[in-house]
Amino acid sequence: ETPKPSDFIRDIVAADVQSGKVQRVITRFPPEPNGYLHLGHAKSICLNFGIAREFDGVCNLRMDDTNPAKEEVEYVESIIEDVKWLIGGWADHVLRFKHAGDTSGKPASEGDANTEPFYASDYFQQLHDYAVALIKAGKAFVCDLTPEQTDAYRGAPGEPGKPSPWRDRSVEENLDLFARMKAGEFPDGARTLRAKIDMAHPNVWMRDPLLYRIRHAAHHHTGDAWCIYPLYDYAHCLSDSIEGVTHSVCTLEFEVHRPLYDWIVDNLPVPQPRPHQYEFAKLMPTHVVISKRKLLAFVNEGIVSGWDDPRMPTLSGLRRRGIPPEAVRAFAIGVGVTKFISSTDYAVFEHAIRTNLNDRALRRLAVLNPIKVVITNYPEGQTEELAATNNPTQPESGTRPIPFSRELWIEQDDFAEVPPPKFFRLKPGGEVRLKYAYIIKCDEVVKDAAGKIVELRCTADLDSKTGGPTSNRKVKGTIHWVSAAHAIDAEVRLYDRLFHDAEPEADGRDWRSAVNPHSLQVITAKLEPSLKDATLAERYQFERMAYFALDSKDSAPGKPVFNRIITLKDTWAK
Ligand code: ATP
Ligand code: MG
Ligand code: MG
Repeated sequence: ETPKPSDFIRDIVAADVQSGKVQRVITRFPPEPNGYLHLGHAKSICLNFGIAREFDGVCNLRMDDTNPAKEEVEYVESIIEDVKWLIGGWADHVLRFKHAGDTSGKPASEGDANTEPFYASDYFQQLHDYAVALIKAGKAFVCDLTPEQTDAYRGAPGEPGKPSPWRDRSVEENLDLFARMKAGEFPDGARTLRAKIDMAHPNVWMRDPLLYRIRHAAHHHTGDAWCIYPLYDYAHCLSDSIEGVTHSVCTLEFEVHRPLYDWIVDNLPVPQPRPHQYEFAKLMPTHVVISKRKLLAFVNEGIVSGWDDPRMPTLSGLRRRGIPPEAVRAFAIGVGVTKFISSTDYAVFEHAIRTNLNDRALRRLAVLNPIKVVITNYPEGQTEELAATNNPTQPESGTRPIPFSRELWIEQDDFAEVPPPKFFRLKPGGEVRLKYAYIIKCDEVVKDAAGKIVELRCTADLDSKTGGPTSNRKVKGTIHWVSAAHAIDAEVRLYDRLFHDAEPEADGRDWRSAVNPHSLQVITAKLEPSLKDATLAERYQFERMAYFALDSKDSAPGKPVFNRIITLKDTWAK
């Protein structure tokens, strides 16, 4: 696979291991279960699991589930499935789960089937107890300001904020009020727990940040056990500490939060050595939007059929489209890890997909827009089997038999009655080679009453197939075909990019205005008969057309549905 990556984060990890500061490297991937994972997450997954794998460590899959409002079990399940898919065969041995029901952050033993991911919500009791410790140390207070007042008092960068009038409550009063918040005595928004740090701090995140708020809402994992919920900054560093995470790797927007991360773990009696946060620049591919909130709108507004629609940039969409996880990894690792914010051309991802598929896809013959060819000098009722190459890049993949007979389907585009200059495919009076078969010549164009071409009558040079006396005769074009009597019909879904614009949201535009109205076209194609045995695990190149895979949801035995993964060449490049 990709050569061993090297970047500033791996350099830090290597130095920590070298110096003995870190005994065993533990990373984590901490999605919030408020949507499906997308291509951007793939970068984070490959980085966190990649580090664990290269340094003989482990990576915890943790649900960062501190906000009950938008989180759902469906999302938890999809995240587990998508992570397993993406790292399968590459880093599954470093994916760490915990024992079911265990809240200590203790890892499951190897081969233990009774496991689940880590949940930040499993630590609610401990986070609460830490909050009580902060109150007792005079480092946290209960504040009665409304959310609007809290924002206004915080002030803007460059000018100091204004302290809350509730900042100097006694420890006793704070303990009593926090206990009553927890007991459910107050409505949502009435009170918060805040750290007492510095209202004049140049970094606004350090101005007495919120630690807890009141939310009378059921939580997908803890049910009705809690009505106070910790905020991200408070919960994240402590979850890292509880799980023994050594390197907490996240995206750049958390850089300004790092002083708070450090303040919390440095002001509590957490186990040492404590975790440290490092930040890198997000993956921002062109031609897509990847924010979960917007992807949810795609689903809710019916622009796509669901989170796993093969046009979605979600991992489940990419999987259903037929894109192999190895291609996603090659891309997500290949873009590299820096602090430099930039977007990545979607064509880079498509290149990774084509490279992978060229190596592995089985070549097959399929006609997407058929027109009938009759070989008038080929005996009626006769069938012969010709050998077709499975994959020219993998000679050991061998050949398969394909049937040839008098009536064939070829691609409409491979015939021109009035050919443009340099048209080397079939034309009246012209010759073309049928791949793996004979050279044919078009003698007659048959039309219906409306003038539409319905049939091409041709003669074959019956000595021209492989091994025959005229097999080396040069004709300029080679086209694909299938035997009409043997072909199977299949629904084929031709997917294209969901956005026609590189930057769907440029100049403050709504991304809806950049949706490509031609991102899906459904046709019935004629396939060579071996494709009746197609499997979900295989990828196929319909020769000269594109790469395809069976649709995991809608395909059924005897009723195949193929998704176009990607065209053979970049049709978008200008
Ligand atoms: P979104 O904006 O799509 O909702 P998020 O950052 O809110 O994404 P999380 O579930 O919090 O989603 O993300 C889990 C992890 O994945 C975080 O550590 C986050 O930094 C990382 N991540 C999210 N988007 C990207 C991206 N585009 N590139 C790299 N890492 C990402
Ligand atoms: Mg987040
Ligand atoms: Mg988000």
